[in-house]
Amino acid sequence: MPTTLRVPYSYLDRQFADIDDYLADVRGLVRSGDFTLGAPLSEFESRFAQMCGIPHAIGVGSGTDALILTLKALGIGEGDEVITSPNTFIATVGAIAMVGARPVFVDSNEGFTIDVRRIESAITPRTKAIMPVHYSGNVAEMDDIARIAEAKGLAVIEDACQSISAERDGKHVGSWGVAAGFSLHPLKNLNVWGDGGMIVTKSEELRDRLRLLRNHGMINRDEIAFFGHNSRLDTLQAVIGNRLISQTPFITDTRIANARFYDSALESIPEVRIPKREANVKHVYHMYMIRVERRDALLEHLQRSGIEAKVHYPIPVHLQPAAKYLGYKEGDFPVAEDDSRTLISLPAHQHLTREELDYTVERVREFYKR
Ligand SMILES: *Cc1c(COP(=O)(O)O)cnc(C)c1O
Repeated sequence: MPTTLRVPYSYLDRQFADIDDYLADVRGLVRSGDFTLGAPLSEFESRFAQMCGIPHAIGVGSGTDALILTLKALGIGEGDEVITSPNTFIATVGAIAMVGARPVFVDSNEGFTIDVRRIESAITPRTKAIMPVHYSGNVAEMDDIARIAEAKGLAVIEDACQSISAERDGKHVGSWGVAAGFSLHPLKNLNVWGDGGMIVTKSEELRDRLRLLRNHGMINRDEIAFFGHNSRLDTLQAVIGNRLISQTPFITDTRIANARFYDSALESIPEVRIPKREANVKHVYHMYMIRVERRDALLEHLQRSGIEAKVHYPIPVHLQPAAKYLGYKEGDFPVAEDDSRTLISLPAHQHLTREELDYTVERVREFYKR
């Protein structure tokens, strides 16, 4: 009987095992009293923009707000339609609904991103934007999406919440759309100590509008351009972000190495299907997802063995109670629905040890040998 390890999905206790340097930074912030829109936020925004290779970054309250504020800044709302895919974290679709627009779904492809062949038939006179999700840390087929959007006069807003540092053809996510939204949630690849989000854009005009929109529409203390939100990225979180942003290459490279390790260790198992990896894409593996037979039994086996495997997600968005009013039904999006029954996410984070990776592979092999 092999020894039981615990292979956690969350890495936060390991990532923050030593917090003295962070606390020294926080102490400095408290002394300065610079709690909202302070200098550390401007610093974090410019470092974030630089890392993405995109001119402007605007820090906001969450990844969800990054999408909501961008939609609002583009004037998308009541009576408009926004195209996205149903296999995503609920916030993509929630953001579209929260501005009053109607989410319109297009099925996904083998790489968990929107199937570009199906986008055009989903476009109506009410369509205003396409919101492709770089799901799991993969990158959607952006050249094709940008071409379709351009031909139809639609905005492209990239949901890059899971995909910091991901690239296609050497271009960072956020390079194609009018803007891209990122999440800094504690369990996203670049994280902070609570909720946070970032929008990147090449447009100065959009940047200026978003800066107002996140801060009550305030030009200055006395002048208000339009009614807005209170959704600034806390300076406290920017302080943490300024320390963590330099870890992003390590986080990204380690996740990629772990994914490669799993790919080659698992590919010989007939019951496991590893998605095709595109050579021109830098997939950053926010989630390491594979399609497997007898998924729920494997999940239980792994969990019993101490491995915190997960399912993202057992119910696709179009079949959620929240989406009932949209009128979709089972069978509408076969790829997303099949994925909801076959996908499993293995822990692949940057703090796993080689022993934990080996152990995880061994437990998967053992399951299919029986
Ligand atoms: C995490 C996430 C969001 C929302 O980000 P929050 O910071 O949690 O609000 C949106 N879309 C996707 C695909 C996500 O994974």
